[in-house]
Amino acid sequence: MKRQIFAPEHDAFRETVRAFLAREVLPYYEQWEKDGIVSRDAWRAAGKQGLLGLAVPEEYGGGGTADFRYSAVLAEEFTRAGAPGLALGLHNDIIGPYLTSLATEEQKRRWLPGFCDGSTITAIAMTEPGAGSDLQGIKTHAEDRGDHWVLNGSKTFISNGILADLVIVVARTTPEGGARGLSLLVVERGMDGFERGRNLDKIGQKAQDTAELFFTDVRVPKANLLGELNGAFVHLMTNLAQERLSIAVSAIAAAEHLLEITTDYVKEREAFGRPLATKQHIRFEVAEMATECAVTRTFLDRCITDHSDGTLDAVHASMAKWWATELQKRVADRCLQLHGGYGYMSEYPVAKAFTDGRIQTIYGGTTEIMKEIIGRSLLG
Ligand SMILES: Cc1cc2nc3c(=O)[nH]c(=O)nc-3n(C[C@H](O)[C@H](O)[C@H](O)COP(=O)(O)OP(=O)(O)OC[C@H]3O[C@@H](n4cnc5c(N)ncnc54)[C@H](O)[C@@H]3O)c2cc1C
Repeated sequence: MKRQIFAPEHDAFRETVRAFLAREVLPYYEQWEKDGIVSRDAWRAAGKQGLLGLAVPEEYGGGGTADFRYSAVLAEEFTRAGAPGLALGLHNDIIGPYLTSLATEEQKRRWLPGFCDGSTITAIAMTEPGAGSDLQGIKTHAEDRGDHWVLNGSKTFISNGILADLVIVVARTTPEGGARGLSLLVVERGMDGFERGRNLDKIGQKAQDTAELFFTDVRVPKANLLGELNGAFVHLMTNLAQERLSIAVSAIAAAEHLLEITTDYVKEREAFGRPLATKQHIRFEVAEMATECAVTRTFLDRCITDHSDGTLDAVHASMAKWWATELQKRVADRCLQLHGGYGYMSEYPVAKAFTDGRIQTIYGGTTEIMKEIIGRSLLG
């Protein structure tokens, strides 16, 4: 089915992203995977190319568009290229909205120009060793000392954790407040007592720096409170819909790409004197995956346009997230199987897609939590 959501300007943007990947990312990607981290130069180059801050108003150096289709194009092309390490989607679609919608004018002037030119790499730190799905368990806390907060605690699994210059930290500011006692504090590189732990050794997304963060008596100025005091939970609930859609967009793109690679492979690979593609079992596998991808694509494209129009709700974003990422996981597994032993070799794109993609059903809210959200909306 021909996709109907894009106009010529989105197609032109897609060409720009492809050229950027070919020039600034793919030649270095293998080295970044060995290093466990991407180069800061790539972030600068992305800023120069206009790929950062797509939704940030132009007066702060951004692209000034609320059209989520541009973000979708970016996510799709990075996924197809197998380059999740340079986490532009995390920066633009997940962290960007917190800064554009919650920051004061003074904060916007301080943070957004660097956000858009690639000199300020960002992260968001919710998860702790003892609190992932259940954010009410967050223990990192900040004490009010008049003109500043004193922040103590630790976070784990933080994407961009090593490179980040600006980290939005979810911290408890009211001890007895439960979910209503959490606030968003912006911690910046160089603040005394802010330290990074290990760059964590993952099974996939090897070029992405995912780290532990430690805060020991970090003096965070009151001017770095983002949004409402004790308002973090509401802010997170508002912004997580876009995060989930963004992950879903990359998931369906990954599944489609895996199917393309595998279709080509089974046409070429021969067994028992004929191409694999002639065997009924293989044909049915491909037919089933193609059908599931096509049905999912239709739903996802509708979610993308709804989100661009401002009408996508949290429940449909959760549906998109769990469904598309579980599809990606199934497709990756079946495509790897159809590659036989070659599918298990790291040099084959299907192997990398299998390990890179495995996290998708976990971060941004697990499949189980997505179903909880949907169930609660239907059953109370
Ligand atoms: C590569 C990577 C990058 C990440 N990036 C970030 C980041 O940038 N920022 C950040 O804050 N976090 C990040 N995370 C953390 C991620 O969001 C959490 O791992 C995720 O939310 C799950 O939390 P958890 O690991 O504590 O698992 P748990 O919450 O302990 O869950 C374990 C299992 O129990 C299930 N479970 C939990 N509660 C329920 C329930 N009520 N009903 C049924 N099942 C349930 C879960 O679905 C899961 O299967 C990242 C993680 C990874 C691995």
